[in-house]
Amino acid sequence: MTKVTVVSAHGMDWVWRTGGTILKYVQAGADVTVVCLSMGERGESASAWAEPGQTAEKVRALRLGEAEKAAAVAGVELRTYDWGDYPMVIDNDRRLEMVRLLRELRPDVVLTHGRRDPNNPDHVATADLVEAAAIWSRAHGRLPAAARHVVRQIHGYEPEFPEFCDFTPDTYIDISDVADQKLEMMQCSQVQQFMIEVYEQRARYRAIMAGLLLERKVTHAEAFERFLPAAGDLF
Ligand SMILES: [Zn+2]
Repeated sequence: MTKVTVVSAHGMDWVWRTGGTILKYVQAGADVTVVCLSMGERGESASAWAEPGQTAEKVRALRLGEAEKAAAVAGVELRTYDWGDYPMVIDNDRRLEMVRLLRELRPDVVLTHGRRDPNNPDHVATADLVEAAAIWSRAHGRLPAAARHVVRQIHGYEPEFPEFCDFTPDTYIDISDVADQKLEMMQCSQVQQFMIEVYEQRARYRAIMAGLLLERKVTHAEAFERFLPAAGDLF
């Protein structure tokens, strides 16, 4: 069974950027685990902070509820950390925790943020962490108690503003069949309603290239940028 691990900085990042691809993997019988390092309670919850007397704890609980609902729609396991956001601080304990997690989950495919995002340092910190942890996870001398694991594929999902992020897609996943279900996942968020239109439009745009490459009708697609080189006996 294919194992997929998705690592997001914040509670709903994964839904907008790769919710459709997750649904496709679930449909194909894959074992998908979504990991959220924080809930984005400080940096991505502006509308919730409009309420008088609001606290980070309350916003976190609200965003956690949204992420749990979306995970239930997708039928995936959700693992959450409370590492805080804006800024998200990655120390050595957290680096080793990500190594431990990769060795526990043993994914064939890892999906996370793209490497560059000047609008969101937490996304960059998460991408850096995942990429580095994948390298450390294969080291013979690191955490010898857990079996080493080689991550062969990491794909960065599309940022909100790709034009600022040097985002150059090299892979398009056709999500036409699950677009309605992805919409249902996105609608689990009250706090970031505006993102629904952003990623609905993006999916329709990415569908153009996906349709050209696949030579079939594609209405929605998600785009990714590969982190690691591929190797084989032939192309
Ligand atoms: Zn985010």
